[in-house]
Amino acid sequence: MFRIMKPRVGISACLLGERLRYDGDHRRQAFVSSLGEHFQWVPVCPEFEAGFGVPREKMRLEESSTRSAAEGGSGLRLVTISSRQDVTGRLRSWMLPALERLEAAGLSGFILQSGSPSCGTTGVKVFDSRPGDSPDSDSTARWRPEGVGLFAQALRERFPHLPLAEETLLADPRRQELFVHRVRAYAGGRIAQCGASNEERRMKSAEYGASSEERRMRSAE
Ligand code: SF4
Repeated sequence: MFRIMKPRVGISACLLGERLRYDGDHRRQAFVSSLGEHFQWVPVCPEFEAGFGVPREKMRLEESSTRSAAEGGSGLRLVTISSRQDVTGRLRSWMLPALERLEAAGLSGFILQSGSPSCGTTGVKVFDSRPGDSPDSDSTARWRPEGVGLFAQALRERFPHLPLAEETLLADPRRQELFVHRVRAYAGGRIAQCGASNEERRMKSAEYGASSEERRMRSAE
């Protein structure tokens, strides 16, 4: 009997109810049960898996126009708010092998937690850091809602066509339906591609078979 395989969809683990947030809490969402009928979840928590632990110090995205190239340049950095540790490199070191694993897992979509400096896909707060900043310089004049979490950004770069959605979008049942449709279309494309390469392999092995046969005939002559 055939068993229909559900497409694999990555998800920020805290949305499934795993208590992996910095404060030991979760962000379980109602859509998880309804979409779980369609998808096989692949939970990921970048900050926990990168070894920051639970609970952990809260982090935020910062950008500095005054940082020198030796200090990492003016790109986005992930920084702990109180102790002012730049943990960008630590998260990035986890990301490379993690993205390899996700590629091997054959994902057809990803649902991410909004607002997170690791998982948010849009509108994440980016703070303007300046030399001598105090830990609590959260003044509204000093941030802009224009960032993308570092993991979400890496996902986009690695899988540019992978359907991505933030959990806020999926509160709307029509958007859920649309997302299911996009994931299925993506999964269908993956299967077609896989079928094509299987066919290529079959043709190659047929070619190899023909030349083996030719060799056999030549040696019989
Ligand atoms: S938002 Fe991302 S990094 Fe933060 S707890 Fe959830 S899965 Fe982990």
